[in-house]
Amino acid sequence: MTDNRKYDLIIVGGGPAGLMAAISASRKSARILVLEKMDSPGRKLLATGGGRCNMTNLLPKDRLADSFGRHGRFIIPALNSLDPEGLRKFFENLEVPTVCTDGFHIFPRSQKASDVLQALLKKAKYLGVEIRSGAKVRNLLIEDSKIAGVVTDACEFRSGKVLLSTGGRSYPNLGSDGSGYALAKSAGHKIIAPVPALVELYCEEKWPGQCAGITFKNISLSLSRKDVSTGEFLFTHSGISGPAAMDISGRVSERLSMHSAVILNLNFFPGTEKNYWMVEFEKWHGHSGKKQVVNLLSEHLPKKIAAILCSLAGCPEDLESANFAKSQREKLAQFLVECPLTIKVTAGFDRAMVTKGGVSLKEVNPDTLESRITKGLYFAGEILDLDGPCGGYNLQWAFSSGHLAGGLNLETRR
Ligand SMILES: Cc1cc2nc3c(=O)[nH]c(=O)nc-3n(C[C@H](O)[C@H](O)[C@H](O)COP(=O)(O)OP(=O)(O)OC[C@H]3O[C@@H](n4cnc5c(N)ncnc54)[C@H](O)[C@@H]3O)c2cc1C
Repeated sequence: MTDNRKYDLIIVGGGPAGLMAAISASRKSARILVLEKMDSPGRKLLATGGGRCNMTNLLPKDRLADSFGRHGRFIIPALNSLDPEGLRKFFENLEVPTVCTDGFHIFPRSQKASDVLQALLKKAKYLGVEIRSGAKVRNLLIEDSKIAGVVTDACEFRSGKVLLSTGGRSYPNLGSDGSGYALAKSAGHKIIAPVPALVELYCEEKWPGQCAGITFKNISLSLSRKDVSTGEFLFTHSGISGPAAMDISGRVSERLSMHSAVILNLNFFPGTEKNYWMVEFEKWHGHSGKKQVVNLLSEHLPKKIAAILCSLAGCPEDLESANFAKSQREKLAQFLVECPLTIKVTAGFDRAMVTKGGVSLKEVNPDTLESRITKGLYFAGEILDLDGPCGGYNLQWAFSSGHLAGGLNLETRR
């Protein structure tokens, strides 16, 4: 069946990027259609920030862009279209005031992601945007290298402008099942292999599981001298999590697609090196020779971890500081600043907050987010090969890119 109405813009995917694009594109008498495969739009948005929606943060634009890594500059035009301050104002105008309680992360004051979604849907409705749920786009219509429309199971919809905002592959039960990649591919786009990011990492070693639930305010994890992630951290039953682990997990996943195992080195005391501890042990020897090494170490680390590290370093439980041999000191100092964790698997796409990889940026114009291959085809949000760390970066990108792509769409038409 063909829907004979011609739309000014068809948006595939009703997540934060797609809904923002629809609002940004809306002009008087413009016909905008959002096609969403789930029963209702914005399912993932509702789950963000544990249901509280960490929508952005207080970083200035340049630093925000740099946090997206090598290709971070790509997001600058989108941030120029809608920066964190603009995003806060946007929601305040929709009667969703925002708040920053820790000097960095921004949430809706109500702490409810549902308020954010409801505000977007209300505004879209007010502007006359048509949203069809339960409509999975299966194919793109392309004629003479120009977009002509989309096809769902039920219907063919025609438009000279189509925006793909289908998200990545993470949390497929919330909608983003990776089907957008096949659509982009059919339009000639290269897909950088998607891997799970912002995801728990499983360790081969058994001891982290014994520490499940123990948290740290500040540790560092390194893949190499230059690739280091610092911050809060948590041992889980199967491995490691918390922002420091999650932020490096995408790069670990990438390596796991080429190697069977990846070693992450954990420094329990970021900034300190082995020698610091060798000096410290010498001091223990001087002033606390009768005390047990494990007890002295427990003054710096949770007792359980101290005991495990001592055992890994070959120090018996009752070892007194006066009898702390050089070889044991060397080993323990090494474990404190470079404790190897062997990662062979992650919790996978089912539990990854974002996807690393996606539509290659080379074939997309950052100033318009239009395809350089198929005229009239646009991209926004997580479908593109960009992913940020934990802390509101990914929603800011979704909203900013939707704002840019949607806003330009109808302006260029007129
Ligand atoms: C549990 C969880 C918590 C998170 N918390 C935060 C947070 O607090 N802060 C933050 O910045 N980021 C967070 N993120 C990441 C953030 O949610 C995503 O980066 C963001 O939602 C991406 O927006 P998007 O619009 O590009 O894609 P999505 O939100 O994934 O939306 C894509 C939409 O497209 C639809 N769709 C897919 N394929 C088709 C198709 N073929 N046809 C029609 N529709 C289709 C999907 O059903 C979906 O509704 C979190 C993610 C998860 C999973």
